[in-house]
Amino acid sequence: MSEKTIEQADKYMFQTYGRFPIVLVKGEGCTVWDEEGKAYLDFVGGLAVCALGHSSLVVSEALLEQSRRLVHVSNLYYTVPQIELARLLVENSFADRVFFANSGAEANEAAIKLARKWAKESLGPRAYKIVCMENSFHGRTMATLTATGQEKVKKGFDPLVNGFKFVPFNDLEALENEVDEDVCAVMLEPIQGEGGVIMPDPDYLGAVRRLCDQKGILLILDEVQVGMGRTGKLFAHEHYGVEPDIMTLAKALGNGLPIGAMLAREALAPAFGPGTHATTFGGTPLVTAVATRVLQTLLEQGIIENCREMGSYFKERLQSLAEKHGFIKEVRGQGLILGMELDIEGSGIVKECMARGFLINCTQDKVLRFLPPLIVKRQEIDQLIDTLDEIFGQLPKKE
Ligand SMILES: *Cc1c(COP(=O)(O)O)cnc(C)c1O
Repeated sequence: MSEKTIEQADKYMFQTYGRFPIVLVKGEGCTVWDEEGKAYLDFVGGLAVCALGHSSLVVSEALLEQSRRLVHVSNLYYTVPQIELARLLVENSFADRVFFANSGAEANEAAIKLARKWAKESLGPRAYKIVCMENSFHGRTMATLTATGQEKVKKGFDPLVNGFKFVPFNDLEALENEVDEDVCAVMLEPIQGEGGVIMPDPDYLGAVRRLCDQKGILLILDEVQVGMGRTGKLFAHEHYGVEPDIMTLAKALGNGLPIGAMLAREALAPAFGPGTHATTFGGTPLVTAVATRVLQTLLEQGIIENCREMGSYFKERLQSLAEKHGFIKEVRGQGLILGMELDIEGSGIVKECMARGFLINCTQDKVLRFLPPLIVKRQEIDQLIDTLDEIFGQLPKKE
């Protein structure tokens, strides 16, 4: 059965993804099933998207209800769910204004455009550059891949977009040296996700904020992966006592429906007036009705508390594996974005997990990354830990 499906995929679609050879057909909670009926405990969560798990009634009920009322009319008109979601995001964040997009990359495009437009009007024509971080990830459109600090994402696509420069993450001095008259913003992820779950030093984000204030430039935080409760607070920057000027969201915002958002302070609103930026689909009644229910559920149903609690339990159990198996270099992360850096390649371990009915992710070749739904249970974590322990124990020992 699966062979036929995969053969067709290989024939009809671009081969842009190195996919695993399973065909998933159903999901519920933290479990997904393939065409052959095999179950997998899902610690990837659609890449930090399915915070409420698979087949959440919150999603399906909002979808059904809104799809019977109004799906799409374009942004030529006001629609009610879009306004409701914007209000809820504003009431629960530093921000005053929201622009809806359809993906993380698009939300970041909007952030880059807003920063440039604001700077042109407030700082003058010279200040257009954005300082980004090495090892970062901001998306695959031309501007966002340019902003991404990883060569493999850019290779073959030059000439790139003008106006981005790079410094190492957690290196304040390097950042201070790059922030010249030509800079309008600093853009970074509070925790680098694709980059290998790299944590900021405890005082780093605060220092970046102070530098931006001193220089009168913008701080843009990309919370596409770590926002929406993933770290145990609604937004990751809340752990560090800093507020950005612009923040982007996407992944878990719609629990699987495509939606992105760019949030900003009131002072930036005049730079994005009528006709400056637009998208046909951004913030349709359908996706915003779902995202509103998802956000209300995150805020009201103890999901973020569960994330905090299960996150620290999961991290402890990963750390106990690290004490036992010498090739584990470090366990990092916060809430339910956890990384385990190995000094061996992780792809074989991902495959072994899959064979035993567990989905996990590996990034940067050697970092196992865990992004389960935020509703994950202790007993599901225990099952994965036991399986990892067994797989690690069977690996050939290095001499
Ligand atoms: C996934 C991701 C993006 C890109 O989001 P898409 O929806 O794939 O365009 C941008 N920034 C970060 C931090 C991400 O993790």
